[in-house]
Amino acid sequence: MTNFRFSLQKYNGSKTRFHCLNCGKKEFVKYIDLENNEYVDDYVGRCNRIEHCGYHFKPKQFFESKREQIPYFTSKVIKQIPKETSYIDENQLLESMYSDCNSSNLYRFFAKYFEEEDVKKVFRKYLVGVSNKWGNATIFWQVDQQMKVRAGKIMQYNSETGNRDKKKFFWIKNQSENTEMRQVFFGLHLINYFKNYKIGIVESEKTAMLCDLFFDEKIIWLASGGMEGINETKLKDLEGREVILFPDLSTNNSKNSAYKSWKTKAETLGKRLIMNIKINNYLELFSCSSDKENQLDLGDFIINQIQNIQTN
Ligand SMILES: [Zn+2]
Repeated sequence: MTNFRFSLQKYNGSKTRFHCLNCGKKEFVKYIDLENNEYVDDYVGRCNRIEHCGYHFKPKQFFESKREQIPYFTSKVIKQIPKETSYIDENQLLESMYSDCNSSNLYRFFAKYFEEEDVKKVFRKYLVGVSNKWGNATIFWQVDQQMKVRAGKIMQYNSETGNRDKKKFFWIKNQSENTEMRQVFFGLHLINYFKNYKIGIVESEKTAMLCDLFFDEKIIWLASGGMEGINETKLKDLEGREVILFPDLSTNNSKNSAYKSWKTKAETLGKRLIMNIKINNYLELFSCSSDKENQLDLGDFIINQIQNIQTN
């Protein structure tokens, strides 16, 4: 079997990420030459800030610029022992839900706009817990269709504004040498309970919950966890379902807008998996340039709408 000779280095702690030559942030991933397990060169790689920076210098460009002809496939047998999926003890999830279930900052933010009973329900439905890591932080658990817990994502919000504190982010995972964390869409555990519903995918977990609270449509809302959070493995879990993607807005000067990126994914992955994946362009059509500048998403539109009703 032939394999690509070059691959982006897998994340293995901060020593595997470098300062980007373009934007300076420590989000740069270098390509590795699998023939000798060495970096191709210090500037050959991709910045993870795909939307804001977009730096990507491929091995092919590197060798072309040196007018070197090299084989892009390797005949070397690359040992790849597939690792098992790692799981987290479900008691950890249960404890996080029932210890102090209504004290997270995110809960209090939601309670400003919705009936508290409904907020409580949506937190239970999505199995969202609370963490003391930074006092009243939120844990978004990723639970698969077999109700097994894959991972937990701790994030902190401002209870007044609902904005995220981007520095406060932590993964709860249970990886070992032979196992690895395999993410699923946030909310995946719900889809079999709503078999005749369409599936709507947004980026943020908070937005998925807001959509569930706000809309009456027969849609079950899932979150990808980020612009890059849509991939073939995760979409496979949704086989046989009608899927609609709701991308966030991107700034006008972004290198790679969320809408374009998700549209390409809907087309290519939809074809490959023989799935019906649509993309919703409501935000693209009904947003002004300041909405785009602020990279608003469907959740922000919902809050704005409720604020308008409350003040009128
Ligand atoms: Zn960069």
